[in-house]
Amino acid sequence: MCGIVGFHGPERVVGDMIIGLTALQHRGQDAAGIATFDGEAFHLHKGQGLVNDVFKPKHTKKLTGNTGIGHVRYTTQGANDSDLAQPFTTSYPFGLAMVHNGNVINFRDVAKLLHEKYHVLPKTTNDLELIMYTFASELRVKDLDRLSVVDIFDAVETTQELVKGAYATVTIIAGHGLLAFTDPLGIRPLVMGRRDTPDGPVYAFASESTCFDYLDFEFVENVGPGQAVFIDNDFKVHYKNQNELPKAFCVFEQIYFAREDSTIHGRLVARERVRLGKIIARKVVDAGLKPDMVIDVPSSGYFSASGLAEAIGVPYRRALVKNNHMGRSFIVPTQAGREDVVKKKLNPIRAFVEGKKVAVVDDSIVRGTTSRRIVRLLREAGASEVYFISSAPPLVSPCIYGIDMAMSTELIAANYTEEEICRYIEADKVIYQDLSDLQDLFAEERGHGGSCFACFTGKYPTGDVTHYLRHVQEERLSHRSEKKSESVSAKAPAPTEH
Ligand code: AMP
Repeated sequence: MCGIVGFHGPERVVGDMIIGLTALQHRGQDAAGIATFDGEAFHLHKGQGLVNDVFKPKHTKKLTGNTGIGHVRYTTQGANDSDLAQPFTTSYPFGLAMVHNGNVINFRDVAKLLHEKYHVLPKTTNDLELIMYTFASELRVKDLDRLSVVDIFDAVETTQELVKGAYATVTIIAGHGLLAFTDPLGIRPLVMGRRDTPDGPVYAFASESTCFDYLDFEFVENVGPGQAVFIDNDFKVHYKNQNELPKAFCVFEQIYFAREDSTIHGRLVARERVRLGKIIARKVVDAGLKPDMVIDVPSSGYFSASGLAEAIGVPYRRALVKNNHMGRSFIVPTQAGREDVVKKKLNPIRAFVEGKKVAVVDDSIVRGTTSRRIVRLLREAGASEVYFISSAPPLVSPCIYGIDMAMSTELIAANYTEEEICRYIEADKVIYQDLSDLQDLFAEERGHGGSCFACFTGKYPTGDVTHYLRHVQEERLSHRSEKKSESVSAKAPAPTEH
């Protein structure tokens, strides 16, 4: 997963861009990049690390111009290679600079087509390169001296037809303006905002609306499925397919990935998470559980935990304290490594949990590593019983639309029953959200548009993806076997009795 921004206005944009990208830092911490356009040339700076590490005053000074795009990268299948940091630029047929969030799933077909139809040989098989060259190649067949908005939207439409998968993109078209477009199903989020200045409006696109709160931008709208928005150099806004609701918006954004203070397609993420906690209360009660307190796995479990506590009338406490400076446990490639990081990252408050029956809420159980470690920590701190509550249903199929999850062989719920998982994570009880309850909450008729539930159902909205799933599995395995120093089991850990 990644975060993207784009700004176009009458004043220098780099300052706003840094603030905007920092607000999206949760979407990617591996690399960051910005490209600006000053009317004559692009200025580009990117590197590995957090926004504040990558952009020092000596870099921002050089990022001149009133149009800019930026990216924070979260490594998915590929290596965390600085060559893959975005934005990417090309100078033919126009100067283009592009960023994207998502994942292309027919990259072999697109690469072949680029070669055969347009005689373009992409340097890498990077998704963004494929999207950018497809778009650029389509622009090339237009009358370059008189490029119109219709030409731009035609090129977008062909790109959307040819490139399958999930993508939200923002592009600077040098000398013309700023363009945003998404895949035909609207799987990934993209919002548009505006701030008025004495010299005219500044328009912005961002993965999440939280950016606009920091920058005093007014929220304008979501960029819907298959939609394109082009802001020309007179700041006139042009639309292709305005006001479409998503056809398959990623529900995992609402459950885990997006920031709590973002509003996506009219739904405040924090509120949806509270609802998930309230809904799961029924299952907790039906299971006959009577916890003394509800706690969260910080930070993504908080809102659901508070919803559950409220619904069952027991106190909520923060009883696990997170050291935010420890890095992410999820991407440590070995099981032992991940468990070690979890231990260093979370510290239980003994005085709160000692002798108590504790219901601990996390957003999801992926491999089960974090959950198992947490249950152990709570027991070591004296909890008398530990119930593990997942505000997501069992994750049974890998995400192929940009969320780095795991192969299905690693997804514990794809391989074991709830009882086996409960034994493996050493909990007294495991409760998962019901898939049907989640689907009811995000039902299409509730104004949010259609959602993608593929990671819970194995039904992928882009059609048959068997080939792609095989590719993901092979890629991951080969990537790991290259890491000679680490021995990795590709299988979900076998549940054991305790
Ligand atoms: P696991 O130990 O593999 O079961 O991981 C579960 C934890 O990973 C939960 O606390 C989630 O908050 C977190 N998580 C879920 N999906 C992702 C993801 N795509 N990237 C990073 N962390 C995740």
